[in-house]
Amino acid sequence: MKCPACAHPLAEGAPACPGCGLTRDALDAGCGVIPKLWKRASSPSADLTLRELNALNRRIAWFERTFPQVHLSVVAARTPQSVPPSAYAFWLINRAAFGRPAPPSRSYVVLFVLDAARGSLSLTVGYGLEKILPEPDLQSALDAGKSALSAGRLGKGVDASIRKLRRLLRRNLRTFRSERSRP
Ligand SMILES: [Zn+2]
Repeated sequence: MKCPACAHPLAEGAPACPGCGLTRDALDAGCGVIPKLWKRASSPSADLTLRELNALNRRIAWFERTFPQVHLSVVAARTPQSVPPSAYAFWLINRAAFGRPAPPSRSYVVLFVLDAARGSLSLTVGYGLEKILPEPDLQSALDAGKSALSAGRLGKGVDASIRKLRRLLRRNLRTFRSERSRP
């Protein structure tokens, strides 16, 4: 795996990142309280309007119909200045009780974190999906939302990233399955 803050390669169970010194305790202390997340798309920072949240919840339902094993969430939050947004997303996906209202079949977690104040959208995937969605694909899903986000159209930006992620995941799953079925 890679350090969520500086992307330095990290050995499983390493006490601290050899690149930037990040530890799990420091991340916990820096990130603070886990935001309350009610729906698949929620906006503790109030940056997404109710209309945008409703549209995103519909988009997420559409995404999850294609991938019944995936639980996708969008959180619009103010992330702490001392923590890189990507590290915050990593912390949240590991700390928040994602998937609690979901059936146990949804075992793969995908999380977008939007921080409108910092102008950042982060995307992180839980254990088991990182092989199917490598870093360059996550980046290209984020890039799909960039122009709308920088124009201040936050809901549209996240929406474009979700649609791009769906295309990439479908493509990668096809490749993954055909490779596995080879003798
Ligand atoms: Zn690091």
